[in-house]
Amino acid sequence: QAKTTGRGTCLVYEPVLEQTRRHRLALEADLRQAIETGALSLRYQPIFELAHGRVSGFEALARWYHPERGWISPAEFVPLAEQSGLIDELGAWVLRRACRDISGFPGSPKVAVNLSTQQLRSEAIVAIVADALAQSGLAPERLELEITETALLTEVLGTASLLNKFRELGTHIVLDDFGTGYSSLSHLRSFPLSKIKIDQSFVRDMATDKQSSAIVSSTVELAAKLGMLTTVEGVETAELLDLARSMNCTEAQGYHLGRPVTILEAVEMLDKRLDTARSRPFLRSV
Ligand code: C2E
Ligand code: MG
Ligand code: MG
Ligand code: MG
Repeated sequence: QAKTTGRGTCLVYEPVLEQTRRHRLALEADLRQAIETGALSLRYQPIFELAHGRVSGFEALARWYHPERGWISPAEFVPLAEQSGLIDELGAWVLRRACRDISGFPGSPKVAVNLSTQQLRSEAIVAIVADALAQSGLAPERLELEITETALLTEVLGTASLLNKFRELGTHIVLDDFGTGYSSLSHLRSFPLSKIKIDQSFVRDMATDKQSSAIVSSTVELAAKLGMLTTVEGVETAELLDLARSMNCTEAQGYHLGRPVTILEAVEMLDKRLDTARSRPFLRSV
């Protein structure tokens, strides 16, 4: 490389590409190690059932503390894991840990686990889910598998039959980030979905933008008619919570109700109620 050719020619363009590639490879190696050594952790964000104002479950969200870089967001390391073939291992770890953690909670809350579309490439995922349930003793109906619209577009790969196998295990399938992808309404009847999570981009704007609130309320109605439940994501204010209630959404999730917290803090949240009388929710900061 730079040793044999003239240095100058390389230095003009190589550094940028090479540095990016080296940076990515180094981070991949770190991620591989993090998975092996248990340096990843989970946070749990409460999901409130609006009819009762109680916590019905938690979404498990992966976190990575890197010794030099600090906290790295799943928005960054999940794609990295997908690119480098680590997603199956990462995903299996999340499933096992989340099922185990929640099985010990009093009051039988549910746990929602995010599945990357790449984890649905092979039927091996069905055994991984079954193992996580068996090892933890968690009742299958307490596990919700969150998939995105992208997964529904790969129907040729047999997503429908895969999702039916999850249903046969007794778990629920939830469509995450609804409205941001390219799925069509026909997908809502072709796949065994229990619940739709309406993306926070619509929820955030529904207090100020009529079109966003029309999209959310219509989605809630449509889902109800199709026999599905709904969750609004990204509820950051009391106003948004009230709107979600008035639209008869099943559940709400967002910083106003509770941030993603450690398992110990999550257990404490089980006692908390939304104060429906005054519409003043329980506030929790990290
Ligand atoms: P997601 O599944 O849609 O999860 C919700 C994200 O929104 C979380 O970000 C959560 O912290 C954030 N959030 C919750 N309430 C609010 C709110 O009121 N306002 C705002 N602005 N944000 C809110 P997080 O934890 O950074 O995760 C980002 C994404 O990374 C997740 O989006 C999910 O797609 C992915 N992800 C996280 N953990 C895993 C995992 O274990 N496996 C896979 N495959 N993906 C994961
Ligand atoms: Mg999710
Ligand atoms: Mg989401
Ligand atoms: Mg999201």
